[in-house]
Amino acid sequence: MSIDSLTALIRTIPNFPKPGIQFRDVTTLLADGPGFGELVERLVAVARPLDPDLIVGIEARGFILGAALAAALGKGFVPVRKAGKLPGKTVGIDYVLEYGSDRLELHEGQVPAGARVVLVDDLIATGGTALAAAQLLREQGASVLMALFAVDLPDLGGKALLEEDGVATQALIA
Ligand code: IMP
Repeated sequence: MSIDSLTALIRTIPNFPKPGIQFRDVTTLLADGPGFGELVERLVAVARPLDPDLIVGIEARGFILGAALAAALGKGFVPVRKAGKLPGKTVGIDYVLEYGSDRLELHEGQVPAGARVVLVDDLIATGGTALAAAQLLREQGASVLMALFAVDLPDLGGKALLEEDGVATQALIA
């Protein structure tokens, strides 16, 4: 299946979650069996040569893609969640959004010092979320081999922001 066919399976919902935002909804791609399979195969093709120890996924759609990728590679999966969702002892990072701030957390000890990780999410927009996640991983002593996304919205500059910070960044669909 071509990238154009994959792209066609993603729908755009206008004015979600706020007026003026064109939301790229990947659930239509996930719901398509051949499309989801192709998406995961393409993620595997990018991540396998990097030989990561762990796949880390960002809440919430990064769990779906990251878990599928980890299982295909035979590697562990670690979730990065919004504040207060993980039951065990956590480490976290606060980061600034356009309006206000937010916090990402992961379970203490699940990303060991020296781990080589691939960070996964469905989409990169401004890059703020992925940059915070990458910083949290580095604070654990991990090295982020790549931040990998299904979709990039290049006009929002997220890939450039991550790469300025030394995080190799790739998206299947831009
Ligand atoms: P960023 O921090 O601005 O790069 O936003 C990326 C985060 O917000 C990711 O976790 C995405 O899942 C989510 N996100 C932002 N815009 C969209 C969109 O249009 N479709 C799907 N997810 C989005």
